[in-house]
Amino acid sequence: MMAWWLRNRGDLDDFVDKDVARSCSSKDAYPNEASARAQIAMQGMAGSLFTYECRYCASWHLTRRKPLPPKAPTPGREDDEDEDED
Ligand SMILES: [Zn+2]
Repeated sequence: MMAWWLRNRGDLDDFVDKDVARSCSSKDAYPNEASARAQIAMQGMAGSLFTYECRYCASWHLTRRKPLPPKAPTPGREDDEDEDED
């Protein structure tokens, strides 16, 4: 089930598009991350639901998929990921 995700992990836009298409049409939108997180807390879904900012409706939606970190590793350049040259 995760194979396609791993294969396309560098293609975050496509991953978001599919989720947004569903969320915008069928789910609630929240004006900010705090509101979205509050909704997760009220549902008791902390750790199971995540928030993301929608670039289409400029609101926040909930998703069951954990969003990728902002700094996604570039394919073929994973070497410097764990290096701390401080
Ligand atoms: Zn949206």
